[in-house]
Amino acid sequence: MLLVPLATRAQTQTTDTSLFYDSHFHLTNYVQEGITVQQFIQVMKGKVGRSTLFGIPLQQEWSYGNTGDFAPTYYLASDAPLYYYSFTDAYIAMAYRSLSKDDQKLFDPMITGFNPADMYAADHIKRVLKVFPGVFSGIGEFTIHKEFVSSKVAGEVASLTNPALDRILDFAGEAGLVVLLHNDINMPYPKPGQEPYLLKQIASLFRRHPKTTIIWAHCGLGRVVQPVKDQLKMLDVVLSDPALKHVHIDISWDEVAKYIVSSPETISATAAVINKYPDRFLMGTDEVAPATQEKYLKVYYMYEPLLKQLTAEAKKKLLKDNYARLFDNARQEVRKWEAAHVGN
Ligand SMILES: [Zn+2]
Repeated sequence: MLLVPLATRAQTQTTDTSLFYDSHFHLTNYVQEGITVQQFIQVMKGKVGRSTLFGIPLQQEWSYGNTGDFAPTYYLASDAPLYYYSFTDAYIAMAYRSLSKDDQKLFDPMITGFNPADMYAADHIKRVLKVFPGVFSGIGEFTIHKEFVSSKVAGEVASLTNPALDRILDFAGEAGLVVLLHNDINMPYPKPGQEPYLLKQIASLFRRHPKTTIIWAHCGLGRVVQPVKDQLKMLDVVLSDPALKHVHIDISWDEVAKYIVSSPETISATAAVINKYPDRFLMGTDEVAPATQEKYLKVYYMYEPLLKQLTAEAKKKLLKDNYARLFDNARQEVRKWEAAHVGN
């Protein structure tokens, strides 16, 4: 056995040598299948120090009339609708509870199984906290406008102007839950020069909820919702507004990384915005149930050219510190809310 002096041993235990913390991770896919949380720990090992933990609130229906014997596992693989699958919250809570206390510290589980067009959605979130106290740090990723997805969801279509969403964000603010929201910044294939109506709506939504900690997923980009020329200027409008200090941005998803690292110009322009607002950006993968560490870390390595252009401070905050600040605070606040309300 190798004898390590005590001091060194203590040091190696407390030194966090991981590459980053993951603010955007799906344990399960659109048919509620994935890897176990124990497998995820193996996939993270040595590289990712902490991670959010959630499934996907939407279930792709297998409609025999639409695809026959072909069982779709992704929303693009079928024309049948998606529906809200609330059991995902119990599934995630039980996965978290199956871990040792030490392993639980790696994760920030999130509530996702609610319909954001339903005035009762906030009550669902409250109920989940009461049934599974000590587990959740946030809500999301949930989706309002998303190319190819929103229009497939059964029932009333979600909207940034729906009071049901205001009830959700009010409650998240009250309980201290971090909100991870997907909302495209623009429609697919917009006419040139058209100002996105979504930007106005989302800025006004953010302004109505100054006490809620919000992470806007993927900088508002999508598979075909591309960085319009003024994309970074739009982000600058949001980030420079003192009334929107509670809004943060994750740079997750390989579809987004693809655009950001597509040229030296896009890399340096993005780096400039992150360097200007170092407290506002978070690293995330948006991986869905990755089977291997190599697949899991793909987005991180795609971003290497961007990371090289960040200041030491901005890089450290993007990769870890902003995550730690937001989620450590959420853990404390949500536990306080639960202590005051569970059993009532
Ligand atoms: Zn996602």
